[in-house]
Amino acid sequence: MDNASARPPNSAPAFMVYCPRCATPLVTRPVSDKLRRVCPACGYIHFTDPKVGVGVLVVHEGRVLLVRRAVRPEIGKWSIPAGFLDQGEDPQVTAVREAQEETGLQVTIDHLLDVYYTPPSGSGGASVFILYRATLVGGQLRPGDDADEAGFFRLDNLPELAFASTRDAIRRLGGNA
Ligand SMILES: [Zn+2]
Repeated sequence: MDNASARPPNSAPAFMVYCPRCATPLVTRPVSDKLRRVCPACGYIHFTDPKVGVGVLVVHEGRVLLVRRAVRPEIGKWSIPAGFLDQGEDPQVTAVREAQEETGLQVTIDHLLDVYYTPPSGSGGASVFILYRATLVGGQLRPGDDADEAGFFRLDNLPELAFASTRDAIRRLGGNA
């Protein structure tokens, strides 16, 4: 890991003002090894959960499926189809849904490729990113949702890529596309 100098995430965010259970003003107190926002009345402890992203690496006829990002972070750069995991949703279901929303294409999950960790930077990106290999099974290419372009690219003719996870996934494809 080369992230030792990264600023640690704020475990006691000031925007948590009131207890969501009883509306008493929260206070900051150490809980185990970290400072947390805690309710002095009912004992509620606010835990800051990581943002989890999921994405699919789809290769069809030697070309990789990419979308151009219409939103921050990394707006205007290209990434694999991806989105945030919703509460209570299977990450494989999220990955298939995001691919459909961003590209109009239907894919099926083949297997897990990797799980990436990026320290929170305040840019709004995912801190945990689950990457699946997936196969194109249908649909018509049509960008949507957070993407304003979508297409298949040869590995020797890639556009400017967003996110270390996308660059790493494509680098690993190497000559095995
Ligand atoms: Zn409370």
